[in-house]
Amino acid sequence: MLALTDTATGQVAPLEPRDPGKLAVYLCGPTVYGPSHLGHGRVSLVWDIFRRYLAWCGFEVRFVSNITDIDDKIIARAAQERTTAEDVARRYEELWWQTTGKLGVARPDATPHATAYVEEMVELIGNLLRTGHAYEGGDGVYFSTGSIAGYGLLARQDLASLRAGARVEAAEEAAKKSPLDFALWKLAKPGEPHWPSPWGEGRPGWHTECVVMSLGLLGEGFDLHLGGLDLAFPHHENERAQAVAAGLRFAERWAHNGMVVDERGDKMSRSVGNITSLPGFLEHYDGRVLRTLVLNSHYRSPLAVTPEALESAKGMLERLDNFAREARSAPEVAPDPTVLAKFRWRMDDDLNTTDALAVIFGAVRDARAHPSRAPALAAAVRECCEKALGLALAPGEEALDSHVASLVAERDAARARRDWAKADAIRAELQGLGYVVEDTPAGTRVRRER
Ligand SMILES: [Zn+2]
Repeated sequence: MLALTDTATGQVAPLEPRDPGKLAVYLCGPTVYGPSHLGHGRVSLVWDIFRRYLAWCGFEVRFVSNITDIDDKIIARAAQERTTAEDVARRYEELWWQTTGKLGVARPDATPHATAYVEEMVELIGNLLRTGHAYEGGDGVYFSTGSIAGYGLLARQDLASLRAGARVEAAEEAAKKSPLDFALWKLAKPGEPHWPSPWGEGRPGWHTECVVMSLGLLGEGFDLHLGGLDLAFPHHENERAQAVAAGLRFAERWAHNGMVVDERGDKMSRSVGNITSLPGFLEHYDGRVLRTLVLNSHYRSPLAVTPEALESAKGMLERLDNFAREARSAPEVAPDPTVLAKFRWRMDDDLNTTDALAVIFGAVRDARAHPSRAPALAAAVRECCEKALGLALAPGEEALDSHVASLVAERDAARARRDWAKADAIRAELQGLGYVVEDTPAGTRVRRER
């Protein structure tokens, strides 16, 4: 069974599913007010790999991830673009799915939208007010963080030390009783989108939506709540606080991935050829390069997305693609069980994808050294990369029929013995069959003429 670091304890512990063989998982999704950045790319990829791996291990994973389609940032963007918040959210959500699609990230099983759950949120807020966990301030309703025991679990700090370090935005300062308290309901200013509530027309605070949607779709005591490390506190802590206050069993476990940093270790990259936006990145790179880079680092560590790191990931991917091409003509056999077992052992240890990749590259080397074992090793490489990690190898290149494959092999042999006349004759024959022929360091490559 996969063991994962639990944010609340800092310890690696095996997952213990609520229902045997099933996992109910919630990942905080994007606030759709602008193009996504490399950090979003990493979150999406880390948990896509996690999800695919668990499914490959035989788990039935229910994966829910929300779309925050109402938020201060969306309202600000709408004002800037002289359009409605609804229009901003719709356009950037569409861009989000296009972008994550290019990264090969599978769509969640459910993608609840905050605006579809406002009634349920109003109900939860009403409940928190009635039970003394919330209070009305001048501009909305606030949660009283001092009203529950154990606030600060995910920050791994207690209330007093959190309070000492807290800063408050000036506008909210007057309304809050404690700097750690947070808005559950924000009264609408003129021209802002609004929904009805007993406390006046307004909109829910960000921290409330995930509580309502995760519990609504996955039920109490769901297995795992995921997100980027920057959400652990205060966002996730505030979600948890509301559930605790409402007497609901919330996520059993929490897991967070590290941030994307630049060369200097600062959060977010400013200088991958000046690319920080994910759509911009994907204009220059195959989405699989970012997946390879993510796989080659531990999910909890900061990830430096530098031109050098990307070049290195690109090189790794090329080696895997080339190997997959070479292995195309190999007979179909069952994957080498030792490779699969080693791979799984690494992955089960807190999703150690770096070492799992090393197992895969070890199999590539072994296949080249021991041709008799190559078909089973190649099958294992394919199984691990494509089925367990979501990394398609040499995609879009159809398998060659055996006649073409043998011509390619014959041509490589002719080139090796410098028989250029023969190599040229085979090139002509392949072209006659409708193939484009390329010479690469890895040998002859052919693809169908389009
Ligand atoms: Zn959330």
